Formats: sequence, C-alpha cells, structure tokens
Amino acid sequence: MTFVDTAKIFIKAGKGGDGAVSFHREKYVAAGGPDGGDGGKGGDVVFQIDDNLATLLDFRMKRKYAAPNGENGFGKRSSGKDGADIVVKVPRGCLIKDAETGALIHDMSDDQPFVAAKGGRGGWGNSHFATPTRQAPRFAKPGLPGQERMIILELKLIADVGLIGFPNVGKSTLLSVISKARPKIANYHFTTLVPNLGAVYVGEGQSFVAADIPGIIEGAAEGAGLGHDFLRHIERCRLLLHLVDAAGSEGRDPTEDLDAINAELRQYSPQLAQRPQIIVANKTDILQNPENAQRLRQRAEELGCPYFEISAAAQTGVEELIFAVWRQLQALPPVTVYEPDFVEPEQKENLDDIVVERQDGVFYVSGRHIERIFASVNLSDYESRMYFERALRKAGLFDRLEAQGIQEHDVVNVCGFEFEYLY
Ligand code: GDP
Ligand code: MG
Repeated sequence: MTFVDTAKIFIKAGKGGDGAVSFHREKYVAAGGPDGGDGGKGGDVVFQIDDNLATLLDFRMKRKYAAPNGENGFGKRSSGKDGADIVVKVPRGCLIKDAETGALIHDMSDDQPFVAAKGGRGGWGNSHFATPTRQAPRFAKPGLPGQERMIILELKLIADVGLIGFPNVGKSTLLSVISKARPKIANYHFTTLVPNLGAVYVGEGQSFVAADIPGIIEGAAEGAGLGHDFLRHIERCRLLLHLVDAAGSEGRDPTEDLDAINAELRQYSPQLAQRPQIIVANKTDILQNPENAQRLRQRAEELGCPYFEISAAAQTGVEELIFAVWRQLQALPPVTVYEPDFVEPEQKENLDDIVVERQDGVFYVSGRHIERIFASVNLSDYESRMYFERALRKAGLFDRLEAQGIQEHDVVNVCGFEFEYLY
C-alpha cells in the first residue's frame, strides 16, 4: 500500500449554449423582427478548500469532473440558463498542476475559490445580428466550448509543526493527546499510512496545526520504504518536534536514533535539516536507564535545540511542551506559500489554425476556427453567406488560398461543402 498524495484528474467546463434563430410572431403582424435569445454560459470547474479533507483518496475513485453545459437560447429573446458551476473540494495545501508540463497552476492555501476551467460563453441569438440593412438574420452563434485539461493534484500539508522520529516513538499518541485528531495508534511500524493533521488549541485565538509524519526511517532519503513520499509533507513545517523513545523500548539507543533521523533529514533536504527543532524525549514513564535521557539532553544542548521530557501516554510534560512550541512559533516566519509558475498558453492566431490542402485541383479547408464559423452559418440564407465570407476573409483564408495559387473558378471545400472561388 502506498500513500496517496497525488492524483491525476480530468476537468471539463461546460460548453456555452447556442444562440437561437427565431423571429417574432404575432397575429396580424406580417414579418416580425429577429428575437432569438442567447445561449447560457457553460458551468465553471471551481476548486475550494475543505478542512475536513486530509487526503486525495477521493480522487482515486472519481477522476473526471465535468460542469454542465449552458442551455441554448430560445425565441422571444429568452436566454438559455447558465450551466451551474461544479465545486471540487480539496484539502488545504493542495497544489493544482498542469499534467502535461508539471507547472504549478494554483496553490490551494487560502479560502478563495479557484476557477480551474472556465465555462464557454453562450452564443448570441440572431436578435444581435439585425442591422438596418439585414433585418432578418437567419443565423446565430454557437456557444463556445468550455476549457478542459488534465491536472495533477498534489498534497503537501500545511502544518506549522511536524512530528518526526522513528516508528513507534509515540508521534501519533502525542498528536491525539494535543489535538482532536484521532490517529491510529498501534505498536507496529508504519501504522500511520497517511499523515494526520491536528489543530492544537493553546489558548483563546491561539492554535497551531501539527502533523504526524509517519515513516521517517533510515534510508528513506534513498527511497527505501515509505519514507521518501512522506518526507515531502514536512517541507512546509515551520518547526519540527523530534520525538525520541527515551526508554529505548525497542532496543535502540535514543541518542543514536536522534542522530540517524537528523542524518536522514540532511540527506533528503539540507534546507529541512536547518528547520528549528525541539527535541522531545518520550516514554519517560517507562524509562529504565536515566543515563539515556541524560545523554539525549546533552546532545540536544550540543545541537542548540530546546529539550523536553514527556510521557505522551501518561500525559506528563505535554502542556509545557505545547506552550514552548507556541512561543517559538511566534518568532518564526509563516508557512511558505508557493507562487504559481504556470502561464496560460497563448491563444493561437486564427491563421495557424487553418489547414489548406490541395488535392485533385480542390482546396480542402479545415481547422477549428473555420469549423466554428461554419457552424454558425445558414447556407441557404444570402446574408448569412455574406457574413460567412467576411468572417473567412477576416480569418485570413483568402490570403492563404491565394498564396497557395488558387485561380478563379477553382473549387474550395469547406467542412464538406463545395464553393466556387470567384474574385
Ligand atoms: P508512532 O509510530 O510514532 O506514531 O507511535 P505510536 O503513537 O503509534 O505509539 C507506538 C507505541 O508506543 C504504542 O503502543 C503507544 O501506546 C506507545 N507509547 C506512545 N507514547 C508512549 C509513552 O509515553 N509511554 C509509553 N509507555 N508508551 C507509549
Ligand atoms: Mg504513528
């Protein structure tokens, strides 16, 4: 079993509704004006923090998030309804990355909703296209497609304090004692497969977040065991509580444990190894050899770290520890928030999108932009055809055709329809 802290999902915003072609009809009125309403906007895909979530497990189950389309427009100038936004809940500190490039799109660290895929605009109904010379436009615009993209969610916990130490030194026990978090406590290694977060109440308006970081073991920096994945979660902690089994209840030497984990940290991230530490000697209730604690205290002094003796299980010394943590946090800089490094790809020029292929004397024209224009045209209507021609000219199609040597009366095939080219 591995810890799920990344997930790849597909998000798709709604398409805009199509504009309507409609004409006003009334008894005894011969020719009413155009009254086709606009299509509604497609729904956005919005991300929002939910503090009840601590993992990305949900995203293993459901990988596709699509917002509904906008409704098409109606007659009598009635607009179609907008598609509703969908809200995707993620844990605090979740990074949203572009799956293709890995670039950071957004860091979900504040409570602002973030729109990760915008719904398409609705198309205009034909009532917009009436002009003094064109009183009966028989065309409307289609809605635009919504944005869609593959993204990667990556969770790095935002905890002020990270609990580190060998398995079974009492990290989960301490977290359950100091916070409302109820992590699994058991006397075997790797009980905690997901890091647990707990808010620690110090006093009125005073609290901090602590994370129980499982799996730091020797060799973790080289990727042995589960450790490597978990280490990433403490990168943001401002302060580390380094727990040591002072009683050596598993037969190891407490001071050697301390050094081993610190060596591990240095290897993984020298930056992290510089993070302030408070050294906590746990399990003092079953301490057989007081000399063990003495040596630990001495090493802490050498390292310049504050040192506390507690028993998480018996809840002794815990309150003093929490106050010390709180005091130290006051003097430390806030949690790092990553800056986005993702740049929206520039909208391609219309021209780039047009493909002209010549085969047996026929010029085949395709491309998204052209198809989009084409979809809004009613070929049986003269004005609509004129509009189409202008739009194609604006998109640069005629220049392209001429550059490719088109002659008068040559055949142009646009989206399956053939036209004769006339100057
Ligand atoms: P973790 O792996 O560091 O999260 O350790 P746990 O919190 O799961 O604890 C491992 C074992 O040590 C459990 O059996 C706990 O009951 C026990 N334990 C934790 N703290 C103390 C303590 O202060 N004194 C004693 N005697 N046992 C403790
Ligand atoms: Mg644990």
